[in-house]
Parts: sequence; C-alpha cells; structure tokens
Amino acid sequence: MRFSGLRVIREGLTGNKGWRPHWRDPAPKAEYDIVIIGGGGHGLATAHYLAKVHGLRNVAVLEKGYIGGGNVGRNTTIVRANYNMPGNSEFYSHSLKLWEGMEEDLNYNVMHSQRGVINLFHSDGQRDYAARRANTMINQGDDAVLLDRAGVRKMAPYLDFDNVRFPIYGGLYHPRGGTARHDAVAWGFARGADSRGVDIIQNCEVTGIDIENGAVRGVQTSRGAIRASKVGIVVAGRSGQVAAMAGMRLPIESHILQAFVTEGLKPCIDQVITFGMGHFYISQSDKGGLVFGGDLDFYASYAARGNLPMAEHVMEAGMTLMPMIGKAKVLRSWGGIMDMTPDGSPIIDKTPVDGLFIDCGWCYGGFKAVPGSGHCFAHLIATGNPHPVAEKFRLDRFRTGVGLMDEEGTGAQHNLH
Ligand SMILES: Cc1cc2nc3c(=O)[nH]c(=O)nc-3n(C[C@H](O)[C@H](O)[C@H](O)COP(=O)(O)OP(=O)(O)OC[C@H]3O[C@@H](n4cnc5c(N)ncnc54)[C@H](O)[C@@H]3O)c2cc1C
Repeated sequence: MRFSGLRVIREGLTGNKGWRPHWRDPAPKAEYDIVIIGGGGHGLATAHYLAKVHGLRNVAVLEKGYIGGGNVGRNTTIVRANYNMPGNSEFYSHSLKLWEGMEEDLNYNVMHSQRGVINLFHSDGQRDYAARRANTMINQGDDAVLLDRAGVRKMAPYLDFDNVRFPIYGGLYHPRGGTARHDAVAWGFARGADSRGVDIIQNCEVTGIDIENGAVRGVQTSRGAIRASKVGIVVAGRSGQVAAMAGMRLPIESHILQAFVTEGLKPCIDQVITFGMGHFYISQSDKGGLVFGGDLDFYASYAARGNLPMAEHVMEAGMTLMPMIGKAKVLRSWGGIMDMTPDGSPIIDKTPVDGLFIDCGWCYGGFKAVPGSGHCFAHLIATGNPHPVAEKFRLDRFRTGVGLMDEEGTGAQHNLH
C-alpha cells in the first residue's frame, strides 16, 4: 500500500475503506537468519536497512510490548547534527542525511521539520566553545551559524535576555536541526521492514539467549524458542538486563529522563531552544503543545516514570529562560529509561559471543540517531565489519580507555552525561 496525495483524495471520496494495516501480525517461526531483540526505533531501522540495503529478509524483530511503546515514542523528538567529538560528529552527520531522505525512502510522513536548533550561551567561555563546535560542524559538512545577542533576539524575542544571573550572549544556530513525529518514525520503519518480508512480532519478550561453544544459536522468548545464527540486541534502557542473558556486564547504567507537554497554544516558539546554563530545552509541537525537558533524574532505575524534584527543577529553568511559559498549563509528563554510558557516547559492535551484536548506550540522544544507528548496525550484522562512520563506537573502549568520546567533558560518571 503506497501513500500519495491522489490516494488520500480517492480514499476520502470512497469512505476510507481501502486502507490496510501498516504491518502484518505474524506468528514467530522456529528459525530466522537474523533476530533483532527490541522493536524500538533502532531495532526497526536495523531491520529495514537489513532488508533494503543488504537484501536480508529472513529477519524477525522481537518486541516485548508494542511498537512505539519504548523511548522511541517517549522522546522530545529533537533531530540535529551538532556534535563536537570525532566519532560522534561524522556519525550524526550521516544520520541527519538519512533523516533528510527518510520520508521518500519510507513513503511515510514522519513530519520531519527542519525548523532549526539554537543552543544559547551565557558567558565568554561558552561563546568560545560554541565557536569551536560550530567550526567542527562546518568542517564536517554540516551547517552552523554563530548568532550574537541581536541575532537571537530576532528569532526568539520572548527570551529573558537580561536575566541577572544568566544573561543571553548569543546562540549557536543549526538551521538543519529540528523535530519529527516520534511514533511515526517507528511506524514508518516497521512498515518499511514488513513490506520487504521482515516479521515484526509484538508481545514477544526475549527471556534468554542460547549460546553453544561461544556462538549464539537463538533466543528463548515468551512465545517459545527461536533459532538464529545472528542476534542483535537493541533494547535501549534494558540493554544491561538483556546482555546479562548472554553473560555480559555492560558499561551502562539505566537512568530516568522525563519530558513535559503543555496544552495546545497558538504558534509562539519557532525553533528548538536550549538553555546553556541549566539542562532545559523546548520546542512547540505541530499540535501546539510546548514540549520540554531537562536533566536525568540522577538515580539509576528501570521505572519508566520520573520524580517531582526534577519536575520542579525543569519548571524553574524554563521560567528563568522564558518567563512567559508560566502562563501555559502543563498537560502531561512521562519518563523513559536511558542507557547511559560512562562517556555519553554509544556502542555499535560485535560482542565476545560469535554472531551476537549489540547497539546501545544512546543515552538521552538516540532519537536523532535512529536512521544512522539502524543503517550502521545493519551494515555490521550483514558484513561483519563496522560502518566507516561508526567504527569508533567500540565496546572495548571502556576497558582499554582508548578512544573515549567524552562529549560533555564530565568524566566517567554515567548520570552526568
Ligand atoms: C523523555 C525523553 C526525551 C528524549 N529526547 C530526545 C531528543 O529530543 N532527541 C533525541 O535524539 N533523543 C531523545 N531521547 C532519547 C531517545 O528516545 C532514545 O535514545 C532512543 O529512542 C532509544 O532507542 P530505541 O528507540 O530503539 O528505544 P526503545 O523505543 O526504548 O526501544 C527498545 C525496545 O526494546 C524492547 N525490549 C526491552 N527488553 C526486551 C526484551 N527482553 N525482549 C524484547 N524486547 C525488549 C522495549 O520494549 C522497547 O520497545 C529522549 C528520551 C526520553 C525518554
């Protein structure tokens, strides 16, 4: 079933009777060539690219809940390529290019909106760092503009420029950054993979990983055993638990991140804005809600909900930056489980078990990585070699200390990244 303007008109005129489910609901087979554990954005994108780029279609994605129920449907949807460290910089640049072709590739409207991201700075030191980061982005082939105070004021006049503690000096503007509709991304990749023969199996929890003589043989699930000679673990906040099924201890801590949305308002915030003096960021959804969030809850947990002290902190930061949002009513808040690595950068690698691969450690920034991660993980699983833009995402950097990508400069503390 292809989507097009003509199709929408025809269906509208004929009672919308011709639409079909976006993907099938198959029963699990006894054996696949490749099993992907986790039907989040990264798992579904991996399956899509395995089928589309590598022609590998005897693939199953096993999801313990429903498609879009994990972080892929819980994030604040910011998409950008403004990373500074070698390794991250080229990877996110690659991912953003895939975003730019995604709707055509998937024949699916994911509402990707390149409305621009502005990272504010509030001191001379922060301006220097923003300039360095802008140069890295430009050298990488991406776009960056250093805005002075007047430049920011022109785009976001509602900010409090003269706050006594945190005056706004300017901003790093990334015009190709923006937002997308998160669950549509999951649905689009699910549909793309399914249409090429991948089985997407919901309500199928992996409970064990079968290993013989150092090689993976398959998985145990709540719907029976499934054999496979290649298995990919892509379970975000549950990475530590699932890797433990294969006897592995990952350098990952799972932490909670919350987000908030207000009632729908008329358009008032055009870009994505991030506060440079506290962890606060905000954008406005196409429905009008102000979508915002802040820091991690600062304790390790597997509960997909947050705590009040962080909610208070986020509201305070928002009121400091743009006092006008105090008039908006918060409608909902929610939390997701983040797979935090010690250097804040991800892992896409083989494991010591033959045929077992892992893609994790996306911290609170993995939505923008969905197509890049799927593309690179599919490459690794299909060819056995890392994709050139992801070859620094090695698991052993945490053992050897070589090649760490400490983007935040906060050292080896998971919850500070
Ligand atoms: C509040 C919040 C705001 C965020 N904001 C942004 C943002 O603005 N920009 C950005 O880039 N990133 C953001 N992120 C991070 C981003 O959402 C995640 O890094 C990314 O979605 C993780 O990858 P995923 O989509 O594959 O995860 P998920 O959707 O969580 O997928 C993992 C899946 O694995 C399944 N699973 C787990 N265990 C098993 C098992 N045993 N068997 C079978 N299935 C299993 C889970 O049910 C889940 O569906 C945010 C996250 C949160 C929570």
